[in-house]
Amino acid sequence: MNHKIPCLDLKGQHQSIKKEIFEAFEKVYDQTAFSGGPFVEEFEKAFALFCGTNHAAGVNNGTTALHLAMLALGIGDGDEVIIPANTFIATAWGVTYSGAKPVFVDCTEDTWEIDPTKIEAAITSKTRAVAGVHLYGQPFDIEAVKKICTKHNLFLIEDAAQAQGARYHGKPVGGFGDLACFSFYPGKNLGACGEAGGVTTNNEAYYKHILSLRNHGSVVRYHHDEVGYNMRMGGLEGASLSIKLKHLPSWNARRQVIAQAYQQRIQNPKLKMQIQPEGHESIFHLFVVTTSDRDGLMKYLNDNNINPGLHYPIPCHLQKAYSDLGHKEGDFPNSEYLASHCLSLPMFAELTNAEVDYVIETLNKY
Ligand SMILES: *Cc1c(COP(=O)(O)O)cnc(C)c1O
Repeated sequence: MNHKIPCLDLKGQHQSIKKEIFEAFEKVYDQTAFSGGPFVEEFEKAFALFCGTNHAAGVNNGTTALHLAMLALGIGDGDEVIIPANTFIATAWGVTYSGAKPVFVDCTEDTWEIDPTKIEAAITSKTRAVAGVHLYGQPFDIEAVKKICTKHNLFLIEDAAQAQGARYHGKPVGGFGDLACFSFYPGKNLGACGEAGGVTTNNEAYYKHILSLRNHGSVVRYHHDEVGYNMRMGGLEGASLSIKLKHLPSWNARRQVIAQAYQQRIQNPKLKMQIQPEGHESIFHLFVVTTSDRDGLMKYLNDNNINPGLHYPIPCHLQKAYSDLGHKEGDFPNSEYLASHCLSLPMFAELTNAEVDYVIETLNKY
């Protein structure tokens, strides 16, 4: 390869839809519909339909989506929410912002997602909810987690920030929990031209509460029924998302083709891939592998013009920000192993077949 293959490149995608996006931006501009408004509403309707849920509420980012999901469920000071130790830190932020305490559990050894068999031991009288993460775009074991939530009368939240369009036994994620939280950060499979996020739900009361919370605690203008926030989605973001949502199925399908090529044709016993249980249809936000000498593989790939990513090098429970929780190395061995042995291969829809072949050949020679 005479050029470096990045882990993610957003340029190709944005060049291919530039005309559509700019036309939409012009409409937003001419209507000065910059904050909330018709372009956000149009996207919310389309996204709810896409997820098969009754409602979708747009917000300013995915972390907000998690935060407001907690508040809509009445979670706050003194409560506990169970989340996987192996996730992007924002899952924990959502809990912390609400005033509740994140309680971590380990991931499984092979799916790398929340381990349902570890949840019950983490439940206390303060536990209110479990927030599972559809990590790297693959649905977690929703059925097993839901069963535990039902048994212990806990809310189920889906962190679907990495999983727009992923399916669990044929049904899109976003409607399995009480609420589901999405990020539309530019680097996600569905990313706005800007920062954005959203919450989906089938529960009208939660939905209406989020509409109020995101808008200064106000339903009727200048009447503030509770302390709220300014967490609306912008009009330009909404307009860009409506356009990109139309392309998302084909972009996700292309990622699945690339992932299948990786899964079938990378034949190197030094590498391990995420196990995909039957019916857990991933959209491959990331394609993560583990290997015993991660730094060695990292250097080898860089020397061969492939620029891998690292998601994520430190598990949540060992982050300095959560040192007050008193965790230590060894608490969640699977998450810790992953953090120190994982590496993300190039994964985005615009990778050419030649680039995919080259990544595969290079890894097979490692
Ligand atoms: C990206 C992400 C978030 C946060 O979304 P932002 O839009 O960046 O705030 C939350 N959870 C997970 C798992 C994510 O990957």
